[in-house]
Amino acid sequence: MTDYEFVGEKLRQKIKGLFEIIPKQKHVFIDEVRCNGCENCYIFCPGGCFTMEDGIAKATHIEDFCQECGTCAKICPTNAITYKEPEGGTGIIRRFS
Ligand code: SF4
Ligand code: SF4
Repeated sequence: MTDYEFVGEKLRQKIKGLFEIIPKQKHVFIDEVRCNGCENCYIFCPGGCFTMEDGIAKATHIEDFCQECGTCAKICPTNAITYKEPEGGTGIIRRFS
């Protein structure tokens, strides 16, 4: 498991409330058979949207934390991740304070 400080749950806690996603919908999918457990998505997702379970990535927090950057699909070495642009392209509302 990685030693990076802000990934997964820790990252989600840090960025919670900075943005809102409307509508909440899942648009990132993992083919678990293809996942080799490299942790790239888990480490580099800016929304902390992935968790690692038994060496396999799970897209567990897409609806609330995905920032629609598409990085996960690009950096997956086995093409296990499919990123579909959210319907309507409504995107993200960000809050800066
Ligand atoms: S599109 Fe970006 S923010 Fe959304 S799950 Fe993939 S890497 Fe994370
Ligand atoms: S980047 Fe791809 S292969 Fe690596 S853990 Fe994520 S889904 Fe699995």
